[in-house]
Amino acid sequence: MKSKILLIYTGGTIGMKQDPDTMTLVPFNFTQILDEVPELKKIVHKIDIFSFDPPIDSSEIEVQIWVDIANLIKESYSIYDGFVVLHGTDTMSYSASALSFMFENLGKPVIFTGSQLPIGMLRTDGKENLISSIEIAAAKDSLGRAIVPEVCVYFESQLYRGNRTTKYNAENFRAFRSANYPCLAEAGIHIKYNTPFINYPSLYQDELRVNSVMDTNVAIFKIHPGISVAVTDSFLKIKNLRAVILETYGSGNAPTKSWFIDMLRDAIERGIIILNVSQCLAGSVDMEAYSTGILLKKIGVVSGYDSTTEAAVAKLFFLLGQHNDVHIIKELLQKNLRGEISIN
Ligand code: ASP
Repeated sequence: MKSKILLIYTGGTIGMKQDPDTMTLVPFNFTQILDEVPELKKIVHKIDIFSFDPPIDSSEIEVQIWVDIANLIKESYSIYDGFVVLHGTDTMSYSASALSFMFENLGKPVIFTGSQLPIGMLRTDGKENLISSIEIAAAKDSLGRAIVPEVCVYFESQLYRGNRTTKYNAENFRAFRSANYPCLAEAGIHIKYNTPFINYPSLYQDELRVNSVMDTNVAIFKIHPGISVAVTDSFLKIKNLRAVILETYGSGNAPTKSWFIDMLRDAIERGIIILNVSQCLAGSVDMEAYSTGILLKKIGVVSGYDSTTEAAVAKLFFLLGQHNDVHIIKELLQKNLRGEISIN
């Protein structure tokens, strides 16, 4: 049986087309998508469109918009087989990460996509991204269950787990990368699903839950040679700060200068969580590899393993929103909750 898809257009470059008379970019009318892309009728039975009004550039994304997208999906969850979220590329990885944590018992695909060139331009990458995303969101196995029941990012023929992605290229059509986890599918002549790497719910029938309370008292602290006492001190004393993502070198290394370690230790003693995430795109934090990492572990810095910074932000917002107990949060940070880190 053909699928029903809800297409949610939040904004971003994909939603533009060139007016043939004036050659200016005007909003693309997604409500007429089946007329514009009649090929879609072959793969889906029905597409409904929900457009944000006004559409937003993804630089303006806030937690409330994640909550709105999640609630929209929750409200229409029983009606549709899959969901495609059209979103600006700039913060797509943050949004896909956030939704992956907000949803519990997800059993249907939620595919984020967008484009580098507007959908109405001749050389657009938007059409292929849109069509393949819809096809993936509509894909079911012989028992009628979703083939990819995860929050994903689809871009330039690759389907990624959303909370493993990073936007790394502002120019090329291949704008995203999932350096620490394999693609979930690749679209060539056929769409080939990488089934062993896809997460499936234990029970497809479980009710979808949305955890919409998030706490944003989190800061990203990227270390660099020459980092000063004044900068570190003021950073760790930000009002209401509950957690810091410490972006470290290589496999989780940071300076061992006593003032630096003392400031981190003091922050941890004040109840601030410090999560160690590498500045490198690929590989993992290993706080046992070098003395610099060992020292961080000793004072209570938590390993972020091979998490992206985007997933670390989303996971902390989510955990801080759900829990007050620092020990519980630290414990959950080191667990693989939605496939965001490579540990069990
Ligand atoms: N600035 C745009 C956005 O992220 C870029 C894009 O859509 O790719 O909304």
